[in-house]
Amino acid sequence: MPLCDLPFKSVFFINRKKDFPLFMPCEAITKNNESHCPIQKIPNPLEWQSDDSELNPEQIINSLNYQTLQDNHRKGIKDKRCKFCWDLEKTGPHSPRLNPDKIDKDTDGLMVHFLLDNKCNMACRMCSPMASSLLQKDFNYFKHHENVNDITSVTDGFFSSDDIVSSVELSQWDWVINNIHKIGALKVTGGEPLFNKQFINAMIPLKKDGLNLNVTTNGSLFTNKMCDILNEFKGLYFTISLDSIGKNYEYVRYPYNFKKVEKSIANFIKRCYNIKEIKYNCVVSALNIFYIDELIKWNNDSFNIYFTEVYPNLRGIGIKNLPVFLLKELYDIILNVEFSDHMLLNMIQKAIDDNQEDKQKMIKEIKLFDSSRNQNFRDYLHPNLLSWLDG
Ligand code: SF4
Repeated sequence: MPLCDLPFKSVFFINRKKDFPLFMPCEAITKNNESHCPIQKIPNPLEWQSDDSELNPEQIINSLNYQTLQDNHRKGIKDKRCKFCWDLEKTGPHSPRLNPDKIDKDTDGLMVHFLLDNKCNMACRMCSPMASSLLQKDFNYFKHHENVNDITSVTDGFFSSDDIVSSVELSQWDWVINNIHKIGALKVTGGEPLFNKQFINAMIPLKKDGLNLNVTTNGSLFTNKMCDILNEFKGLYFTISLDSIGKNYEYVRYPYNFKKVEKSIANFIKRCYNIKEIKYNCVVSALNIFYIDELIKWNNDSFNIYFTEVYPNLRGIGIKNLPVFLLKELYDIILNVEFSDHMLLNMIQKAIDDNQEDKQKMIKEIKLFDSSRNQNFRDYLHPNLLSWLDG
């Protein structure tokens, strides 16, 4: 048995920037440090060259670049390119290798993962125009008000607008569509994939009954029509981004209404009979961390919730910019919620240990977006956070 089977069956296409696409067995292999984000600063650990850019998924799996990794995994040698997993395993069995996604376990054939473009119906506060087309409105507002340098500085360079290359434009996308019988699992990330007409239109005529589908979605677009299309797949494995509840959700995931999202998710659960897995992903920032206990209670143990720290973690709304006394209060609250997740607790503990309290930076980021959206943070944020921000 190889140490991990992803180098033998999986290709993740990364093509956010205009340069040539990169191919990886998983996202974890790109995370050679904790400041990784899948849309920026992508490393090239498998050393792809521009000449490789037209390789199809079968050729990629059989390439020399993959073979060296496969050989090491087959021989039980811990390849240094999988450092992210080895490092995580030093603290316990927490790595993606030891906790593969359910779709990875359930799929025998070839698995392909595409980053679609940035078309999205939400403009979330922690996201970037590179991943959400709607955030371009905020970017244009900052440009008009000569605030681009401010927003760039306060988000540590994350909030930037750049030309996006969609995976759908890659030759490999056409190959996958024309060879769908060879594919066991299709994974897509956006933008919002269910808002992407190019993706949906490509899926409709396909024969999908042998295909598992994983979508990372904001969960707002599960109409009856969408559910009928999804029901044609073999199995559905969905990651739903959900960071908070109620008004706080609406502040973070502007301009959406929480009740509407709840209804959409309920429709998905009711109408789709081939759901194999739903998990929630919560991006933790100072904006929502005070409501995470309520999110956990709202979930009521229905599905797993995964917690990811906002990127970059020292941007204005990063939790490390909160004061230690508030972080300690949050730690105790989370510890006492019935479900207590060690990753979330570790994240809070790290923010206490590496604390960089910075109220000015936080308030600046908050107010910049408030001004472009005509919102007031006092209407949406937790009283404990407000009393520190106002103090
Ligand atoms: S060991 Fe980890 S980094 Fe390496 S291929 Fe498997 S999941 Fe990816």
